[in-house]
Amino acid sequence: MTDFTGKIGLVVGVANKRSIAWAIAQATAARGARLALTYQGRFEENVQELSAGLATPPLVLPCDVASDDEIANAVARVEHELGGLDFVVHGAAFARKEELSEPFVNTTREGFRLAMDISAYSLIALARAASPLMEKRGGGSIVTLSYLGSERVFPNYNVMGVAKAALEANVRYLAADLGPKNIRVNAVSAGPIKTISAMGISGFSSILSVYRDRAPLRRNVDATEVGEAAAFLLSDAGRGISGEVLIVDAGFHVTGM
Ligand code: NAD
Repeated sequence: MTDFTGKIGLVVGVANKRSIAWAIAQATAARGARLALTYQGRFEENVQELSAGLATPPLVLPCDVASDDEIANAVARVEHELGGLDFVVHGAAFARKEELSEPFVNTTREGFRLAMDISAYSLIALARAASPLMEKRGGGSIVTLSYLGSERVFPNYNVMGVAKAALEANVRYLAADLGPKNIRVNAVSAGPIKTISAMGISGFSSILSVYRDRAPLRRNVDATEVGEAAAFLLSDAGRGISGEVLIVDAGFHVTGM
């Protein structure tokens, strides 16, 4: 049921080997998926290098999710070179460093706009561009990545928490819009993992240690575990699930104190 043989996926958000999107790429490729991996400008070399490690060489493409043209070009190349699309992974997020260290009340208008555009709006833009290809193949599955900061306050997560709340609402509205085309839209909400983005959050290591102390499993999750959960939602095993936020955090979110 989690077999991806014959399936084609577009994975947005790989920066390096620690990226959660890379773990999802590996989990789906290992089960037979053919992939297109996109990179944001400065990460081209990393993504080219990583792609050599997949059994079936992926298509590697540029895509800045702030640009509708770049999204359209990436999707057009996937259609032209891979012949269609069955699933999409959205793993792009960004907020300015100041916005992740200063008091939330100091969030600037531009910082808010940027975080919302890259981290939340881009899912809508990507879904709009990719859904015609999935519709042609009888349906598909989209997964994005969120964090519990959408509902609870974590020190310095700030505007990214607001963006994740918008992202999770996007998941529900897109699920309702695209469901009649048999396209499912879900999020995996991951526990904290040391990646480039996470290290931009001031005091991130203290979040890691609180999870380690208090999560029911008394540990943090790793990217592989998030990758496996995302692969489940992207696969036919998840075919009855849409509009959901699946929390993969060693159980931390159920704790009161
Ligand atoms: P990461 O830094 O490896 O990935 C973030 C990606 O966003 C990078 O590949 C970067 O190139 C991409 N990106 C930023 N701006 C972009 C733009 N304009 N166009 C295209 N791509 C752009 O870090 P990660 O932790 O793997 O982050 C992936 C997702 O997982 C993010 O949505 C993040 O918020 C989410 N997440 C991370 C954690 C964590 O603790 N690491 C926890 C929960 C959710």
